[in-house]
Amino acid sequence: MFGTNGIREVVGQKLTVRFVTDLASAVAYVHPGPGPAVVGTDARTSSPALGRVVSGALSMAGLKVLEIGVLPTPAIQYNVKALRATFGLIVTASHNPPEFNGLKGIAPDGLEFTKETERAVEAAYAGGKFLAQPYDRIGEIGQDTQGASRYVEGILSRVSGDAIRKRKLRVVLDCSNGASVVTSPMLLARLGARYVTLNANPDGTFPGHNSEPTEDNLQGLVQYVRTAGADFGVAHDGDADRAVFVDERGVYVPGEKILTLLARETIKLNGGGTVVTPVTSSDAVAEVIAPYGGKVHFTRVGSPVVSRAMQEQKGAFGGEENGGLIFADHQLARDGAMSLARVMDVLVSSGRTLSQLVADLPPYHLVKRKVRCPIALREKVLAEIPALMDRGNASEVSTLDGVKVRTPEGWVLVRPSGTEPIYRIFAESRDRKTAEGIAEKMAKGVESLVASMEGAA
Ligand code: MG
Repeated sequence: MFGTNGIREVVGQKLTVRFVTDLASAVAYVHPGPGPAVVGTDARTSSPALGRVVSGALSMAGLKVLEIGVLPTPAIQYNVKALRATFGLIVTASHNPPEFNGLKGIAPDGLEFTKETERAVEAAYAGGKFLAQPYDRIGEIGQDTQGASRYVEGILSRVSGDAIRKRKLRVVLDCSNGASVVTSPMLLARLGARYVTLNANPDGTFPGHNSEPTEDNLQGLVQYVRTAGADFGVAHDGDADRAVFVDERGVYVPGEKILTLLARETIKLNGGGTVVTPVTSSDAVAEVIAPYGGKVHFTRVGSPVVSRAMQEQKGAFGGEENGGLIFADHQLARDGAMSLARVMDVLVSSGRTLSQLVADLPPYHLVKRKVRCPIALREKVLAEIPALMDRGNASEVSTLDGVKVRTPEGWVLVRPSGTEPIYRIFAESRDRKTAEGIAEKMAKGVESLVASMEGAA
């Protein structure tokens, strides 16, 4: 039932009142208390209804419930820990299309449920193990209206507020009609920014643009930053655990550049430490943190994996190239508003523009390709991929997630998608043409491998 980021299903198909009731009841069976359960939602059309279904099911199972309303996923994670809750349940489907919704479980430490908890919930669900309480054991349902300000105060305590306020940064904020509407404008106001908002009405039909913050979806933000002469633009995805940026010229900044920039700044401030990031991330990260005593710990792809590895490795900073960044001094969760505050901090402390900061990073080029591969052939193809790679030239081979081979020119990684019948290919080099050449050669190799296996079958 649980994918890499909780449960995401189409509303009215798999995601019914019955399904959500049984699932919430199974969570209550696994974690019957003693603390309150926090229930929060994103801004999707079905979220108010499903949030109430979750609260009702938990209350009927005897748990005390604290409804925290519409908030970004990281804000709910922050509050689960701050309120010493037994767990949190978030009704959200992040950046998925509007027909989706989902559920994400949060442990008392603010991290996503562990795989063990997810398996226990699945077993309770499958076994129909639900708590049925008599009338005098029904849990109280209360409301907490301080979730947004508690979270924003937490972020403010981690940046140089006075210095940032003096600069009166000009910011264009695109909330993508999602949950950040209740927190990021508040944060910008508290940091003395002169800001305008786009798509700042919560609306689960996503009238502004698709809620995934890709360059194509953010053309409105790009135009506005250019017209308004802002210091930068920022956009969140639907549940605001991610932030992506547009520089003062109105140029979209690739996620790996912000990851690299904030990795360096965090390690510099921290006087060394570990950056945790998946195998898909740029070599630029290791290069910029090395002079400050930092080192990289690679993981498999997926933000819950990165969070857990940060906990184990005592990582100072972590994240992925899609704009999901984790700051250990704040919380071990991807956090869009914290990323926004840190970018403001770096702009002010460096006295430079965002485009200058990005231009000064090492000039690595990361190229991504997709190749179709039927799921039935996935394992067979994976076994043959090392033979496609130039291993005579390889200095290092890693099978942590897919297969990654490092050569003097750069590296190439081939990994199957977790959700689609495709292989993803990542290639990086300091030279764009070389990176494109490596990716192209590998794409052709995987394509002909799939074709020959399909022919044989
Ligand atoms: Mg998200």
